[in-house]
Amino acid sequence: METHNGNVLVLATGGSIAQTSPSDPTLTGEALLEAVPELRHKFGILVEEVAQVSSPDITPEHWIELASRINKAVADDKLQGVVVTHGTDTLEETAFFLNLIVKSDKPVVVVGAMRRPYALGADGAANLHDAVTLASCPDAMGRGVLVVLNSEIHSARDVTKTTFNLDAFKSRDFGPLGQMVNGRPIFYRRSERKHTLCSAFPSDLGRLPRVAIIYSYAGVTPDLIEAVAASGYEGIVWAGTGSGSLPKAIRPAAIAAVKHGLAFVRSSRVNCGYIKRNDEVDDDALGFITGDSLNPQKARILLMLSLTQTNDPVKIQSFFDSH
Ligand code: ASP
Repeated sequence: METHNGNVLVLATGGSIAQTSPSDPTLTGEALLEAVPELRHKFGILVEEVAQVSSPDITPEHWIELASRINKAVADDKLQGVVVTHGTDTLEETAFFLNLIVKSDKPVVVVGAMRRPYALGADGAANLHDAVTLASCPDAMGRGVLVVLNSEIHSARDVTKTTFNLDAFKSRDFGPLGQMVNGRPIFYRRSERKHTLCSAFPSDLGRLPRVAIIYSYAGVTPDLIEAVAASGYEGIVWAGTGSGSLPKAIRPAAIAAVKHGLAFVRSSRVNCGYIKRNDEVDDDALGFITGDSLNPQKARILLMLSLTQTNDPVKIQSFFDSH
């Protein structure tokens, strides 16, 4: 007997979850659902293809298209939630972008798989089952965009890919929000940072400003910053050593980039930990922004969105302090 608990929209973008060979993802969203037939019995599921790419090929244009489809879809009272299937390499970036741009408290769940469908112990079907169940669950509302893999529920803000094993996704500083147990979410905490309905960023975005990430290492030279500053970028995220340190050899180029009108965010290649302001460098005096606890790839997204609103470093810092 069919029992429809509610409607869930599944937006497919590709990734290993949809990959039947080592080359490109070829499985459609419909084909992914065929692997979990009970979902069609429990939920009214609508499927749309947004892309069929590996996630290193996901671009800001895909983010904007996904956000606009989701923002339109959630206006339908009959829709309970949305699932985005995605490659795991850049899953955290798409999820964080949506966390800041989706204007709804309905659950939006981003999901992928560490193993392709033909691999022994493939995890895609179980993860998709968890994602659709979670997206239909009233308890998942108002928690921001969620990521579910390996039975763990993470906040899009905090989660990052850490290994190539089944337990690849971790929220290292904070831990998961909850877990899926026998197809039911159990939550333990909420993110305190602004997202979805409370985020400072409007959903009607055109083009996003260009922001580069520069990775620091022993002996790093200032020409990298100079090249980016001369190439039409509007911002730089510095993936510094330790707590976002700026070697002395780099400081004049960073200061010149800010004077040239670029936003400069100090973050850490350690990928976790809070960046202290005005500690080793006088960020206030130099007009630098500090990346809070965001890893460089997430700091880049927040900086891109911030630059659609302002280029005042004090205002941008307030976005980093609250999102
Ligand atoms: N190459 C894949 C991707 O990110 C990896 C995965 O999905 O796990 O699209």
